[in-house]
Formats: sequence, structure tokens, C-alpha cells
Amino acid sequence: MTVYAIAMCQKDAGGKTIFPSTDSIYLKIIYLGTAGWEITDDKTTILVDPYLSRLRRNYSENADSLTPHDNRRVFGDSDIVELDTAAIDKHIKAADYILVHHAHRDHVMDVPYIALKTGAIVIGHESTANIMRGYGVPEDKIITVKGGEDYDFGNFSVKVIPSLHSPLDEKRYFDSRVISKDTKAPLRVGDFVEGGSLAFLIRFRGYQILTFGSMNYIERELEGLHPDIAIVGAAPSRKEIYDYAGRLMRVLNYPKIVLPTHWDDFTLPFDASQEQRLKQLQIFAQEIKKASPQTKVIIPKYFEPISFASKELVPSRKR
Ligand SMILES: [Zn+2]
Repeated sequence: MTVYAIAMCQKDAGGKTIFPSTDSIYLKIIYLGTAGWEITDDKTTILVDPYLSRLRRNYSENADSLTPHDNRRVFGDSDIVELDTAAIDKHIKAADYILVHHAHRDHVMDVPYIALKTGAIVIGHESTANIMRGYGVPEDKIITVKGGEDYDFGNFSVKVIPSLHSPLDEKRYFDSRVISKDTKAPLRVGDFVEGGSLAFLIRFRGYQILTFGSMNYIERELEGLHPDIAIVGAAPSRKEIYDYAGRLMRVLNYPKIVLPTHWDDFTLPFDASQEQRLKQLQIFAQEIKKASPQTKVIIPKYFEPISFASKELVPSRKR
């Protein structure tokens, strides 16, 4: 198992170099597919956009011939969503908090089930909160945010950052709808609307982890942030954005690690080939390397923890 030690060495009072411990406390970051991540120190677990149901749709960017064994039902917009609870139960054992970037199906659809199963607190904007209510998630397990909040949870904190959705349909995508407070479960595929987009800066175990759920950002909102790890949208719609990688790497002061997100075809099952998408991902990695040669781009594998050494010896930046 590779353990990334991105903590800087410190000098003690006598000028002796202290190396950060690589064997005590780990921070683990695990890719759940789509824009979903688990961030854990094995005590506190934070999920981001967990979506494991991967509904089969009547479109797919990969040829059907690549998935001859995918006999799952195809879902249209008017169909009531069905969760893959077997996949969720297999991979999500516990969660304390669930952060949701926006309320599209591939970000929020599995969240009510996971919240009810784990007792986790869900943090998201109004549409996300109303979906939770519709599925019976109790009020004390919902924190509604709009962007700009900076909340302390004791052993970690979350800065909520206003953001933008991917520029879909060649920049024509726009949706100002909000999911209403009287929404009732079950929802149909087409019921999930964006409801605005967020990014999150998670400060946990001395690390600062910036997460995006889409292929866009508001540069001004990121000024002054210096994340160690940036989870960056890597799907092709980023190409609609002017200097996507360059502006992002500069404003974030060249993070040491970039983890690409939302790059896979999430209409395919976990065991299907993502060969085409992995090829495209190499281009994203090159764009990041060009903009920030010192940055390490780690291509995540589903459910395989990426481990980071303890940063306990390194005082976290206070701001
Ligand atoms: Zn979306």
C-alpha cells in the first residue's frame, strides 16, 4: 500500500528535524465512483456525494458492446429511482457526515438511504435538505447551507464555497429550479434538479482537502485557499472553461495532490470497462502537470484507499 507523506518536515527546538510519523494515524481517501468519496481516519468518516446505484440510463458514452453482461433495467426520466442497496451496504459501513455538492441524481440519490442507515448528518443546500426531508431524514440530521459558511465540528471543519455546475450542452445548461419543501418520496429520475452548486474545504487531521462535484468553479471564491489535496472535476465538459487547470492550480497555490473526480461513466456498473474514460483522464492529468509540474495526480481505483501519513506534527494553517 502506498502511503503519501505530503507533510513537511519540521525542526524541533534544538534544530533537529522531526519527520512526520508514517505509521500512526492515517487519513484515507477512497473513491466511490462518479463524484463520490469517503474521507476517514477510521474514527470519523465524511462522505462526499456518495452515489453507488449507478442507474443504467438510455444513454451511455461507452458502446454497449463493452458491457454485454449489463442486463440491468434501463431507467428513463419518468421512472421512480431504484437504489442498489446491495452495493451501498457492501461499501458504506459507517458515516458521520455527508457533504453534497448539488442535488442532481448522481450526487444525492443514495444519500437519504445512507443517512438513515448510518445516522450521518447531511450538509447541503436547500434542494438537498428538502430531498432528505422527503425521505424522512430527521431535521436534526440536516444542515442547510448556501455557501460562505465555515463550520467547526470539533475534530474537523468545513468551509462551504459557492461554486458553479459543469457547463453542459456546450454552455447552454442552466437550471434555477429548487426542490420544494413539500417534496415526498419516492422521487423520479427527472425530479432531481441541481439547486445550485457548492465546493467544500475540509480541514481534517491537519490536511486541507478541497472537493468539487462539477467541472467548474468560481475563481474569486478560491482566493487564499491552499489545499494540500484538491479533488477536481475531470470530465470533458471542463474543456468549455477558459484555462481550467491553469487558473485553478494558480489560485490554489499549486496543491501537492490532485485527485480527479466525476471522470467515469456512471451509467455503467462498477465492473464495466472505463477504458475510454481512463484514456481521457490521461489528458486531464497532463493539463494539471503542465499547469503545476510539482503536483502529483493520483488516478483513483474504486474502493481502494489512498492513504496519507499523519500530519499531526505539522501545525495546520490557521486562518
Ligand atoms: Zn450535476
